[in-house]
Order: sequence, then structure tokens, then C-alpha cells
Amino acid sequence: MGSIALKSVEKWFGNVQVIKGIDLNIQDGEFVVFVGPSGCGKSTLLRMIGGLEDTSRGAIGINGTDVTDHPPSKRGLTMVFQSYALYPHLSVAENMGFSLKVAGAPKSEIKERVEHAAQVLKLTDFLDRRPKDLSGGQRQRVAIGRSIVRDPTAFLFDEPLSNLDAALRVEMRYEIAKLHQKLKRTMIYVTHDQVEAMTLADRIVVLEYGHIAQVGTPRELYESPANLFVAQFIGSPK
Ligand code: ADP
Ligand code: MG
Repeated sequence: MGSIALKSVEKWFGNVQVIKGIDLNIQDGEFVVFVGPSGCGKSTLLRMIGGLEDTSRGAIGINGTDVTDHPPSKRGLTMVFQSYALYPHLSVAENMGFSLKVAGAPKSEIKERVEHAAQVLKLTDFLDRRPKDLSGGQRQRVAIGRSIVRDPTAFLFDEPLSNLDAALRVEMRYEIAKLHQKLKRTMIYVTHDQVEAMTLADRIVVLEYGHIAQVGTPRELYESPANLFVAQFIGSPK
């Protein structure tokens, strides 16, 4: 239910082309990581998949439906960013249930979904707290919890851990890997951190200024980098 297909996808900002014709098929349940240097187009591509940027040329399909012109709300995806603004005056439970409340979901359903998300993220004991009384890692878990309650077809992460300190990043990386195992949902994860990419990904997409330098499993990329750019980026000996 969470397959995503990109066909000849391009993005132009004015007369500058930042995404240069990308073809990619992501399978249901796959964990795909986009890596590449700053400014290579990772966020732009992710935002196009999420519908936050329109697609200049080409097409985006989700579960076989062409969603190229669909607004974000009609794509069934959810995005988790590095800066996660939680509502300070709301409890953890209220923060997680907010979007469902706005959408008019019944209270009992909101409660059930929030409790399930809290269980998955080990936040059950924190549901009544305010964000200010949480650690950075717990706050980031609440931000992910807001996505889980919406039961998305796929999760889109844009450098969700880059604001955390090194120790927390390692811990959260592990949490995200477990989340993927539990939920078995498609995840597309943007990072410029090679270690995150190598440890989380089923497949890594290496982006080089708007085009794909290589797609493969972490092992394939490490053992057989397509070119020097990939080798240097992945840190493999070529
Ligand atoms: P990354 O996430 O890999 O660091 P981005 O997708 O943010 O890269 O940016 C890719 C390129 O597109 C960069 O050169 C950036 O300056 C440019 N860009 C991103 N958003 C806009 C925009 N709204 N208007 C013009 N240029 C943009
Ligand atoms: Mg970015």
C-alpha cells in the first residue's frame, strides 16, 4: 500500500534546474535513504513527493495513482522535519492527537491511536507532560508520534535528528529503525550523515546535484561504488 514511483521528475526554480530527471521506484515497506552533500536537492525531492513543492516536469505515483497534482493532504503521507514545533501549552497526548482532533475524529478513536503511538514510542508515562518537561529525544519522539497517529501510507523524514546531540542521535536512529520494523511502513529518510544512511537503509539513493549517482543497498554502495563521488561520499575504498 505504500509504493512510490517517480518518473522523469524535474524541478526548476526559475531557470535553475535543481532536480534533473529522476526515475525511482520505492516498494511498499521499504526504508529508502536519500544522501548527498548540502544543496544537492534532497529536501526538494522529498518535498515534491510530499506535495509541498510542485513538480515542474514528470510524474509522481503513490500505490499506482498519479498524485502529481494532488495537494499534500490527499497523498496519505506524513513529513517529519528537523525542527518540530510542539504546542507548548498542550500535553504530549494533546500534541499527538491534535491533527486528528482538527480533522474531527471521535475522541475514543483519538485516545486509542495516541495510546498506540505512545506505546510504540515508549511515551506512555509521559502523556500528561508538557513539552518543556521532556528531553530532546522525547520531544522528537512526540513529533514522530504526531505522524504515527495519522496512520500514513509512508513517512517522509527530512534530517529529523540533525538538531540532537551525538549520543541522542544514535539512540534515536535505533528508535527509528525499530519503528520501521514494527510499523512496516514505507519510509523515505533524508540525511547528509553517511552512518545514518548505512545503518537505516534498505536502499540508499546517492544524489549528486539533482541527479542520482547510484542506488543500491548499503553493501552494494560500499563494495561497488559507481564512481569516485559515491566512493568518497560513502567512505568506501575506491
Ligand atoms: P539539500 O536538501 O540537499 O541540502 P535542497 O533541496 O534544499 O538541498 O536545495 C537544492 C537546491 O535548490 C539548492 O541549490 C537550493 O539553493 C535550491 N533551492 C531550494 N529551495 C529553493 C527555492 N524555494 N527557491 C530557489 N532555490 C531553491
Ligand atoms: Mg535539506
